[in-house]
Amino acid sequence: MQTTQPFDMVIFGGTGDLAMRKLLPALYHRHRDGQLAEDGRIICLARDELSREEFLERVRVRLHEYVQAHYVSSEQWEQYARRLDYLRLDAMQIEDFARLAGFLGDDPERVRVFYLSTGPNLFSAICKGLGTGGLVTPGARVVLEKPLGTDLESARRINAEVGAVFEEHQIYRIDHYLGKETVQNLMALRFGNSIVEPLWRRTWVSHVQITVAETLGVGSRGGFYDKAGAMRDMVQNHLLQLLCIVAMEPPASTDPDAIRDEKLKILRSLRPLCGAEVARHSVRGQYRAGAVGGEPVKGYLQEDGIDPDSLTETFVALRAEITNWRWAGTPFYLRTGKRLQESIAEIVLYFRDLPMTLFPSASHEPNRLVIRLQPDEGLRLALLAKQPGDEMRLRPVQLNLAFAETFKARRIEAYERLLTDVIHGRLTLFMRRDELEAAWIWVEPILKAWEASGELPKSYTAGTWGPAASTALISRDGFAWHEEI
Ligand code: NAP
Repeated sequence: MQTTQPFDMVIFGGTGDLAMRKLLPALYHRHRDGQLAEDGRIICLARDELSREEFLERVRVRLHEYVQAHYVSSEQWEQYARRLDYLRLDAMQIEDFARLAGFLGDDPERVRVFYLSTGPNLFSAICKGLGTGGLVTPGARVVLEKPLGTDLESARRINAEVGAVFEEHQIYRIDHYLGKETVQNLMALRFGNSIVEPLWRRTWVSHVQITVAETLGVGSRGGFYDKAGAMRDMVQNHLLQLLCIVAMEPPASTDPDAIRDEKLKILRSLRPLCGAEVARHSVRGQYRAGAVGGEPVKGYLQEDGIDPDSLTETFVALRAEITNWRWAGTPFYLRTGKRLQESIAEIVLYFRDLPMTLFPSASHEPNRLVIRLQPDEGLRLALLAKQPGDEMRLRPVQLNLAFAETFKARRIEAYERLLTDVIHGRLTLFMRRDELEAAWIWVEPILKAWEASGELPKSYTAGTWGPAASTALISRDGFAWHEEI
């Protein structure tokens, strides 16, 4: 494993939920695995008046919550804690950036990462502060957390404001789905195996399904979620990024721009959905009270921080078409929601039916490839095989590649990989400005058509697979949402 260069990781919003729950635990793992330069520093910033000791105590407590006990020894923690520091800084106070500059010093050899783990309303002020404070060295990088805007205009504004201070090659737009091990494996499957690529096209694939389902509700994020909804929170970024990785052409190389160029072409090939087509090819839903795992749960409108008349969608199903030579005529169905029956993220390729059946079979399900992102990361290929016995009778079986069993290594969290990629200066798993904007160009007319329709989101009972209209959306084409065999 490669160790990073010396670095300063400066986390704005360093006392927030994301920093405590994901970023600092991820950096801890990387520290423990010996992947961080010995003198790499992690400096957390927020407005709270905290001494370094008080801050460290907070991190220590939360680390025990989010890192499995057998990975945390007091010796490892003490070493990790030496890297950590806390600095009080208000992003709105320009003079606070001069203090930060003094703290960081001016060693040109150190990689400087500014991780903006705050609301996007602060991105502009932070970038201005960094610019005028002279903190943006040639080796500096900025990491932007989602959401990057609520529509095309706001996304463009954020890009312009950040772009006024940082060059595009210094900007790392996070979509943590791209850091997941199975997404990397999807690339390995597609571009590292000669038998796969010829099948990966309209001729052999009847349709593709991408599902990211959660059993959780909005939890404590009600105030944020009610302004966003599933389309902005999940589809515009995570689901469209997964679609790009499944559908893109083989890149000419592993150069970040070679890969991102191919993803961009997919976003630009998505057939726009406008006007009446939106009603036909999309479903938005909102959960009502129900039960998840046998436990009764509230409806969305009864959750904390939610407007009781809210029209915000907690479920989206879409039928997308990619109008290029590889995929024309092969629909891509996207589905995501909260308070669904199971928490899963998977991509399923359904292969075309046989031209005729020779043998009796317990099932006539076509072959399919299931790429599981969570839980139980792995690949499963559903085939038909002969059932033992005298009769020539077929039944469904699976070729199962469970990554945990095959590789017997600790599962690397997406943020671990992404954080060290930033320090190493690897841009491949981060979204480029034009990708982000192309995704908004496709999503925005759907949001506008929903708003203009004046229709309520379709209600679904918490703990189910969403509104009945979602089943109808896919069954109109003669298909059904994937269920385990
Ligand atoms: P959070 O818990 O509300 O934390 C916000 C952080 O920003 C706190 O440390 C806060 O500390 C600091 N802050 C607020 N105003 C500030 C100011 N004027 N100057 C300096 N610091 C300021 O939010 P979060 O959940 O960590 O989310 C952070 C970002 O990541 C958001 O954009 C969110 O959408 C995104 N995100 C979060 C998650 C998640 O799981 N939490 C997942 C994906 C994306 P003080 O108030 O003490 O200043």
